[in-house]
Amino acid sequence: MSSHNLSHIQIDDLEILGYSVAGEETVIAVPQLDVCFDVGKAPDQIISINHVLLTHGHMDHSAGFAYYLSQRNFCGISPGTILAPANLIRTMQEILESWGRLDGNRIPARLIGVQPGDEFAIKPNLFARAFPTKHTAGSVGFTVLEKRKKLKNEYAGLTGPQIVELKKQGIAIDNPLEIPIVTYLGDTQYVDFAQLDYVVKSKILIAECTFYEDEHVGRASAGRHMHVDEFAGLLGRLDNKHIIISHLTQRTPMGEVRKMLKKALPPEIHDRVIILMDRRYRSHRGE
Ligand SMILES: [Zn+2]
Ligand SMILES: [Zn+2]
Repeated sequence: MSSHNLSHIQIDDLEILGYSVAGEETVIAVPQLDVCFDVGKAPDQIISINHVLLTHGHMDHSAGFAYYLSQRNFCGISPGTILAPANLIRTMQEILESWGRLDGNRIPARLIGVQPGDEFAIKPNLFARAFPTKHTAGSVGFTVLEKRKKLKNEYAGLTGPQIVELKKQGIAIDNPLEIPIVTYLGDTQYVDFAQLDYVVKSKILIAECTFYEDEHVGRASAGRHMHVDEFAGLLGRLDNKHIIISHLTQRTPMGEVRKMLKKALPPEIHDRVIILMDRRYRSHRGE
C-alpha cells in the first residue's frame, strides 16, 4: 500500500507525482525521467526512482534522504544517486554514518555535490543542470534537459553515405540542440530566472509560490520565498507551456489561492497554471 496520497498530474507522456505544502513536506517526482525533486519524507512511490535532485537542506525537503537510500538497500536496488548542493554533502555523509550505526547496517549511497552550472548525466541524452536560487547558502534549482544533435541546414538533402563521408573528413555536420523538459525552482525568493534561457524554454516549470495575501509580503521575504505579485511578474517573462505551482502556505485556503492567482495572472498565463495540490484539478481530470 502506498505510504502517501500523492497528487498526480499527466502532461503528455510525462507523469508528475508529488506532495508539497510549505513547512510540511515537498517531494515531486517525474518517473519517466527517473528523477525526484526533493525527497520530503520519502514516500514509497519514489523509492525506485534512481536520482534525487535535492535543492537545499530544509527538513521538509530533505528528511527522507536516508530512508530513501536505506529502503533501496533493503529492497536490493542499486544505491540511489542524490545530487545536492556541494556544501551539504559532508553533513549528509555524517547523517548516513549515524543512521548506519543506529540501524546496524551501512547505508550505500552515491552523493554528488553540485554547484550552479554543473551538469550530471541521468541517461545518455538526459542531463540535470543546477542553477543558483536565493533561499539558503548553496541552494540550487534543477533543469532536466535532453541533448540532441541537429543536422545543419546546408546538409539536410544529403544521403546517408554522403553524411558518412563528411564525418570521415572530420567535418562538423550537425549543431548541438538542447531541449529543456522540466525545471524545478525548489524554494527561492524572487530571482529573475528569465535570464536563464533553459528555464525560460522549459516545457514544464515547477515553481514555488508560497504566499498570496498582501499582508504576507513580509513573510515571503523573511522566509526567502516568493509572493504571487513577484511570481506573476516572473511568469510574464518565461515561456513555459505548463506551470505547476508548489509549496503553498497552509495559512491561505486553496479557494482563496485560486482566486488570487486568477486575479494576479493574465488569462493566457493563468490557462497554463496547475496547482500541484489542487484536488479540484484532479477531479476535473477524472482521476
Ligand atoms: Zn520549503
Ligand atoms: Zn526551504
